[in-house]
Amino acid sequence: MINQERIKNLLLELVQIDSHSRKERDVAERIKTYCEEMGAEVEIDDAGEKVGGNSGNVIARFPGTIPGAETIMMSAHMDTVVPGEGVKPIVEGDIIRTDETTVLGGDDKSGCAVIIETIRCLQEQNIPHTPIEAVFSICEEVGLLGAKHVDVSKLKSKYGIVFDSDDPGFLFTKGPSANHMEYRIHGLESHAGVAPEEGISAIKIAAEAIAGMNLGRIDDETTANIGQIEGGMATNIIPNLVVLKGEARSHSEDKLNAQTEHMEKCFQDAAAKYEVTVAGKTTKASVEAHVVREYSSMDVSDSSHVVQLVLQAASRMGLDVKTMASGGGCDANIFNRRGIECANLGTGMRAIHTVKEWLDVKDMYAAAEMTVEILKLNGELAGK
Ligand SMILES: [Zn+2]
Repeated sequence: MINQERIKNLLLELVQIDSHSRKERDVAERIKTYCEEMGAEVEIDDAGEKVGGNSGNVIARFPGTIPGAETIMMSAHMDTVVPGEGVKPIVEGDIIRTDETTVLGGDDKSGCAVIIETIRCLQEQNIPHTPIEAVFSICEEVGLLGAKHVDVSKLKSKYGIVFDSDDPGFLFTKGPSANHMEYRIHGLESHAGVAPEEGISAIKIAAEAIAGMNLGRIDDETTANIGQIEGGMATNIIPNLVVLKGEARSHSEDKLNAQTEHMEKCFQDAAAKYEVTVAGKTTKASVEAHVVREYSSMDVSDSSHVVQLVLQAASRMGLDVKTMASGGGCDANIFNRRGIECANLGTGMRAIHTVKEWLDVKDMYAAAEMTVEILKLNGELAGK
């Protein structure tokens, strides 16, 4: 049903257009042109201005061929992680990889390619279909910012599919909530050789706090990490400041809150043990904790329209697609919370966020074939 050569070439073309987060303009313009050539009404929204990037989200509205049918959303993100500029894809048979100086950017240009190829097929083969809103988002990799700034009041879709995961045999319907934390530990500086007893080491407090902290996989629903630590000025100065950044994720809000509180308490308890009095002035160590909700969980029921659509389309093709819980967040988390029921379908990207990223085009072809079938089935249901 799909044109394999065409979708492969589109992927190769898109991955060679640089689009680090906040620098998506070139790929956005290219996608806009293609969608306009396919008859869509295309807008680049103002999300870019809101997040300090050079492009907004590309929103392409394709008319349907079934009178009165509801609109379906299809979405993928245009930005890539670093190092992602100057990608030189290497094609070896069905495998596309890089020279290992950059990521491939199949995350998520494979999703963008699947959406475009699917709509081309629907049009060329005159397959009756509902209206489609294709949302190509910015800044997914830096906090799902594009999806957060889409004006959903201007979208008609109540359900949709996000194409942003690896195996096309899986449909992610559950995802965790995530908190991002920053801790600033304040000690007191002092000469390390002359007057160490007049200082408080923020590094020592950080070490004690982390040594007593539960991190990694907390339980089957919850994970936590301290991922960055920065502090100190010189070996001969007792360090007065350490800044740590971390995160916690859970499919359960209660567990996420408990883990977030636990992490802060470890820092507060460690700091509480330290104070010094110098020339009658007492200084206590202290901790500032900033917690930001990065995204909230998603949990789409297997009986929902969008999940049934995917499962039934797959079974009509003799394929077995399984619904799954993801450990990560994606634009679907945001869309679900903003009233568009979304699941996340795989496109073949592998080893993402590394310079060893690769993609088997057969997986991408399978994802596109299945997506054509999904849209076809959706049209049949809407036409009834
Ligand atoms: Zn992605």
